[in-house]
Amino acid sequence: MIERQADEPQISKLGCKCGHVITDQTDSLPYKASLLRDEVENEFWDEVHCELKPLVEAAESGDKAAIAEAFGKFAPWISATDELQGPISSIYNHRMSTAYECQNCGRLWVQKDASDKFVSYVPEEEAYGAILAVASGESENRD
Ligand SMILES: [Zn+2]
Repeated sequence: MIERQADEPQISKLGCKCGHVITDQTDSLPYKASLLRDEVENEFWDEVHCELKPLVEAAESGDKAAIAEAFGKFAPWISATDELQGPISSIYNHRMSTAYECQNCGRLWVQKDASDKFVSYVPEEEAYGAILAVASGESENRD
């Protein structure tokens, strides 16, 4: 078990047992994934629905007063969907664990729930398999 080293808030590094340093300082990493444990899946969706419910109900009512009331704290209220991103990201970050795949040896590093500790698993093939990447190893744009 190795503790994640957070040198700076946005730059995380995890030293693999093979010597490779897994860095996490940008988006869309092909060797990183989020893990939602089945035991908290219902809680996750309940929390997301809880955030979305006032907006959906206000929108369904078609009543601008209700919409204004539901999202009165947002100015202008039209950016309510943008404002939702914060709470939903927060729920996501709280419920998801992170997994990294070492691009050198293929070890899978899984974050222990609610901690900064990671546990490693060695692949049968003992090689990097790009198991967390989209389209089996090819990191590409979908458009
Ligand atoms: Zn490694």
